Amino acid sequence: WRNSVTHLVTLIPGDGIGMETSAAMQEVVAASGAPIEWEVAPAGAACMEEFGAPLPESTIEAVQRNKVAIKGPVTTPVGTGFRSVNVALRQALDLYVNLRPVMSIPGAGGRYDDVNLVIVRENSEDLYAGIEFEEGSAQAKELIRFVEESGAGTIRPDSGISIKPISVTGSERIVEYAFQYAQKHGRNKVTAVHKANIMKHSDGLFLRVAREVAQRYEGAVAFDDKIIDACCMCMVQDPSQFDVMVFPNLYGDIASDLAAGLVGGLGIAPGANIGKDYAVFEAVHGSAPDIAGKNLANPTAEILSAAMMLDHLGELEAAERIRAAVRKVYAEGTCLTGDIRRATKSDAAPATCAQFTQALIAAME
Ligand code: NAD
Repeated sequence: WRNSVTHLVTLIPGDGIGMETSAAMQEVVAASGAPIEWEVAPAGAACMEEFGAPLPESTIEAVQRNKVAIKGPVTTPVGTGFRSVNVALRQALDLYVNLRPVMSIPGAGGRYDDVNLVIVRENSEDLYAGIEFEEGSAQAKELIRFVEESGAGTIRPDSGISIKPISVTGSERIVEYAFQYAQKHGRNKVTAVHKANIMKHSDGLFLRVAREVAQRYEGAVAFDDKIIDACCMCMVQDPSQFDVMVFPNLYGDIASDLAAGLVGGLGIAPGANIGKDYAVFEAVHGSAPDIAGKNLANPTAEILSAAMMLDHLGELEAAERIRAAVRKVYAEGTCLTGDIRRATKSDAAPATCAQFTQALIAAME
């Protein structure tokens, strides 16, 4: 199986269950025969002490050098503390696409057998840009005054304020990516999701640009749009009506977890952050502090993210070998982690992360 070109890939193991899922992913990639060499780079709370930053410059440089990285989840303090490492990395490398294919795996406890959709989430702007003003701060007061003087509305004086920028540039490149992806992968339709009826200058702009881009693909790829709230109901009732879906950042974040829930949960949902020059592959899930360090995590999501990475590197056979092993182990159903036991409402004893990983490796032999 060995191919002569070795790919040097940056591995950011992350923290929480990331330590376990990243180790499992490395073992499975090695067993697939893919010629990957890892350069390990730190991120997260643990490297604050050593580097004085949750995302050291050396980690960003490692991704820039190797162009391709895979990352385990990193804990972000809620409400206070350092800003999200994930958001910082996406911004530093301009990884403007968050690509999340959602596919049923028979045996994984999904609500449907035939989910096959792709979430394309804008990754660089929207409320997620983290442009915020603290309640009571001089800037917040100034903004409140400005809003009132402009006649746009009133804001209560005790408000914290988050800004929601959505640009023509950001919208055009993400919708263009969604259509290019659809064409390349033989998919028939792109759906743009928004709340343009309420937020006319942000979501309305996104929808207007999406319609303009769609015209370039008329006759080749169909286009429609949905309002986010109705869209969530449609995804739950009949996900087969969706093909490629393109979202502004925050709606895409929420809809990704909803879609993961349709197919068996966060434990099996892979993803990638993609820019013009770099790609960082990572599962949809977070660091799951409730189960970290207990050998309970399901590493499938990170392993399927690695399969996406192998596709990206042109290692198509190794990627397919991994996906085939995942399908086989889930179809057999004898060695599955606790999250899947719960999703399938099974009383069978759950496998540990390590046992499941060994089952995958055995399925490749
Ligand atoms: P989470 O995704 O970590 O966990 C949500 C629930 O799903 C938990 O009950 C968890 O046990 C379960 N779960 C998640 N992944 C699983 C897996 N692989 N196997 C089995 N069960 C799994 O979401 P959260 O609890 O909201 O966030 C925890 C931390 O992770 C926060 O600090 C958050 O900021 C961070 N986070 C990081 C990323 C990232 O690094 N890309 C993404 C999302 C959240």
